[in-house]
Amino acid sequence: MNIPVFVPHVGCPNDCAFCNQRSITGVTEAPDPGEVERIANEYLSGGKAGSHTIAFFGGSFTGIEPGLQRSYLAHAKKYLDAGRISGIRLSTRPDYIGPAELDLLAEYGVTNIELGAQSMDDGVLAAAGRGHNSEAVRRASHMIKERGFVLGLQMMTGLPEDTPEKALATAEEFIALGADETRIYPTLVMENTRLAAMYRAGSYRPQSVEEAVELGAVLYGRFRAAGVKVLRIGLSDSEDLKGGCVAGPYHPAMGELIIGRYVRNQLESMAENGRLDIRAPKKYFSKIVGIKRCNAEYFLKKGVAFSLTEGNDPLVNGKYSLDF
Ligand code: SF4
Repeated sequence: MNIPVFVPHVGCPNDCAFCNQRSITGVTEAPDPGEVERIANEYLSGGKAGSHTIAFFGGSFTGIEPGLQRSYLAHAKKYLDAGRISGIRLSTRPDYIGPAELDLLAEYGVTNIELGAQSMDDGVLAAAGRGHNSEAVRRASHMIKERGFVLGLQMMTGLPEDTPEKALATAEEFIALGADETRIYPTLVMENTRLAAMYRAGSYRPQSVEEAVELGAVLYGRFRAAGVKVLRIGLSDSEDLKGGCVAGPYHPAMGELIIGRYVRNQLESMAENGRLDIRAPKKYFSKIVGIKRCNAEYFLKKGVAFSLTEGNDPLVNGKYSLDF
């Protein structure tokens, strides 16, 4: 479980077309380094020691002035040294990673580094105004792996100039680069961003929820098959996110929708003689049936009898196993 510390836009001189840190995190100022301990204590009270990770999210951590990075990390390292957390993770830009940055992170016991790669297509990166190319992602990923950190590569879908084919190629390259973890974010058009202006001018068409779900399910399955851990799908829902979202595939439970579709896609090829007899542990029921029973209704509408009973391993029609 992550103990999230949001360090928004600190040290970031970039202006990505989609980014409005305030709407996404609801936080506008960098917390005082001492806040790390207050937040950690709050999360750890009553929790199991050692099972948490302090996670610096929200901006480009290694773009922060090194003295301030050290202050944040020193507070987190106290918890690591005391065995109260199992790791320290952070997110940053690929072009803010170099030998000196990695030396600093290693000194404080950082375990996981996530890069906001967003796409491995240079046209998409340029259209999003990222200010780095795909080579920067390759270079940073190699360095992170060589130094023994856990590598996370985050991607967005539905950016300007992006296509499902380019998104799939991005996923394939993440896998080839040795990504251990990933996050998949369908692009939302937030207020006060260049993307919102492009959308209003008619020069950008966001994904529909259906397009984001269909593509997300394929990406999720590909990462699962390659052993890349999918840490998150879609931004965390919040009032700020909902209120600040101008257009795009907003859904309060995008992750559940996508995993539900991934399950539905598997079931599609398992139906036999108009039947889907599914046995599974109860904890998987909601993923199989889908949000508001959408998967069950989908098959019933197609004339496929859909039955779900409790059992040990997930098994469909007595022989097919399901992956979640
Ligand atoms: S680099 Fe990150 S924080 Fe900076 S503008 Fe882009 S998305 Fe926002």
